[in-house]
Amino acid sequence: MDDMLRSYNPADGKLIDQIPKTPLDTIPYMIRESKEAQLKWAALSFDERIGFIEKAAEKVGLHLPEIAELLGREMGKNLKSAIGEVKGCLKARRTAEYVKEGLKPQVRSKPGIETVIEYLPLGVCAIISPWNYPVSMAHWMIIPALTAGNSVILKPSEETPLVSQAYVDALNEVLPKNVLQIVQGGIEHGSALVNSPDIAFIGFTGSKETGKKIMSSASKTLKRLILELGGKDPLIVLNDADIDTTARFAIINSIENSGQMCIATERIFVDERIADEFVQKLADYIKDYKIGTFDDPDAFVGPIINEKQRQLILDHIDDAIAKGAKLIYGGKDHPEHFVIPTILDGITDDMRIAKEETFGPVVCVTRYNDLDKAIESANSAEYGLGASVFGHQYVQETADRLNVGMIGINTVIGGIGDVPWVGAKQSGFGYHGSPEGHKQFTQTRLKTRVFNNI
Ligand code: NAD
Repeated sequence: MDDMLRSYNPADGKLIDQIPKTPLDTIPYMIRESKEAQLKWAALSFDERIGFIEKAAEKVGLHLPEIAELLGREMGKNLKSAIGEVKGCLKARRTAEYVKEGLKPQVRSKPGIETVIEYLPLGVCAIISPWNYPVSMAHWMIIPALTAGNSVILKPSEETPLVSQAYVDALNEVLPKNVLQIVQGGIEHGSALVNSPDIAFIGFTGSKETGKKIMSSASKTLKRLILELGGKDPLIVLNDADIDTTARFAIINSIENSGQMCIATERIFVDERIADEFVQKLADYIKDYKIGTFDDPDAFVGPIINEKQRQLILDHIDDAIAKGAKLIYGGKDHPEHFVIPTILDGITDDMRIAKEETFGPVVCVTRYNDLDKAIESANSAEYGLGASVFGHQYVQETADRLNVGMIGINTVIGGIGDVPWVGAKQSGFGYHGSPEGHKQFTQTRLKTRVFNNI
C-alpha cells in the first residue's frame, strides 16, 4: 500500500505536498492514548477546558494567514472565503460557553427527594470530515465534543489533508497531549475508527451514501451518531418577491464555493408571472462572478475539487439540456479543472439535476403556475437540509409547508445565537448546535436521591 497521502491543487492538478498516511495498525494505540487523555481532560472543570479551547483558538488566529492560504490552495476557494472560514473558528470560546450552558445539570425536587439529570462525556469521539469546508466542518464538531469533556480523533478528507493538519497542529500547541489527534488517510482509515469498539461517538459530515455506510457499521456497537449529510436546497420565489434582491441571492447561493456547499441553492422555483424578468436578472448578474484561482482577487468561483466531481456536474448539465432545459448562460467550453457558472431554465422533475445533489456552480430554474405543485416538487427530494422562500404575502405559509431542517425567509438559512444545524429526511441524523445539539455529545444520566425515611 502506498503510505503517502498526496495533495493536489484542484486548479491545475499539480502536487502541493505529500504527508504520511497514518499506519492502520497504529490506530488502536492512538485510540488507547485518546482514552487515557480523555479521563484527565474530563476531570477538569468546564471553565478549565474552555480556557484551553480559547487559547488553542488564539493559536489558529496566529496561524490564520498560512492556514487560509493552504485552504485556498488545496481546496480551491478564493482567499477571502478561506480567511472567513478560518476566522469563524476564532469564536471558539463563545461556542464553548454555549455548550457549557446547554449541559448544565437539571434538578427536579420535591420534599425529601431530588432527581438530577447530568450530561457526561461519552469518551473518545471520532470526527470524520469532508473537503468542501475542511476547517469549519471539523471545528463545528470538535469544539462541542471537547467542551463536553470528550477526547477527539479527527479523520479529515483525503482531499484536504494539509490544511486539516495545519489546523490541528495549531490547536495542539495548547491542548493537552492526545486530547485531539488526527488520523490521515482515506476510507479504510475512517472505517477503522467507525469499527473500533473503543470509539463512543461518530460525528460525520459528508455524503448521504457514506453516511448510510457509517450508520450501518456503527450499529454493530450502537455508537452514538451525528450525520450531517448532503442537500438539494430549493429556493421558492413568490410573485411579490423583490426580484433584484432575490436574483442576486439566487446567483450567490448557487455558485458560492463553486456550488460545493451543502446548503447551496440547487433548484429555483419562480412564479411564471415574474420569471422572464427574474431570469434576465440572473443572466445579467452572473457575469459579475468570474472564475479563477484562489489567489486571484477578482475571482469568485474556483476550480472543482477533482475530475470525478467535475464530470458529474457536466453530466447533470448535459442530461438537463438533452431533456429540454434551455441554456441561458455558460454550460460549455469550460476550462480544464473549472465549470463556468451556468444558468439553466425549464428544469423538470425527470432530470438528474432536479433530484441528485449536483454540488456545482449551476443555477437551475423551474417556472411554476401552481404554487402547490412547486412546493410538492421541492418536497419530493430525498434530501431536506435547507430551503429559502422569497416574497411577502404568502411567504410564511409557503415556508411552513417545506419539509426541511432549516429555512431562510427572504434571507440565507442559518440563525441567531446558539441554534441547531439540522437536516430533515436523508440530509442528516442527529445534529449539533443549540442546547439539544450539545447534549448529543454526552451521555445523559439520571440520579435520584431520597433524603429521609431510610
Ligand atoms: P464523503 O462522504 O465522500 O467523505 C467524507 C469523509 O468520509 C471523508 O473524510 C472520507 O474519507 C470519509 N469516508 C468515506 N467513506 C467512509 C467510510 N466507509 N467509513 C468512514 N469514513 C469514510 O463526502 P465529501 O465528498 O468529502 O463531502 C461532500 C458531501 O458532504 C456533500 O454531499 C455535502 O453536501 C456534504 N456536506 C454536508 C454538510 C452538512 O452540514 N450537512 C456540510 C458539508 C458537506
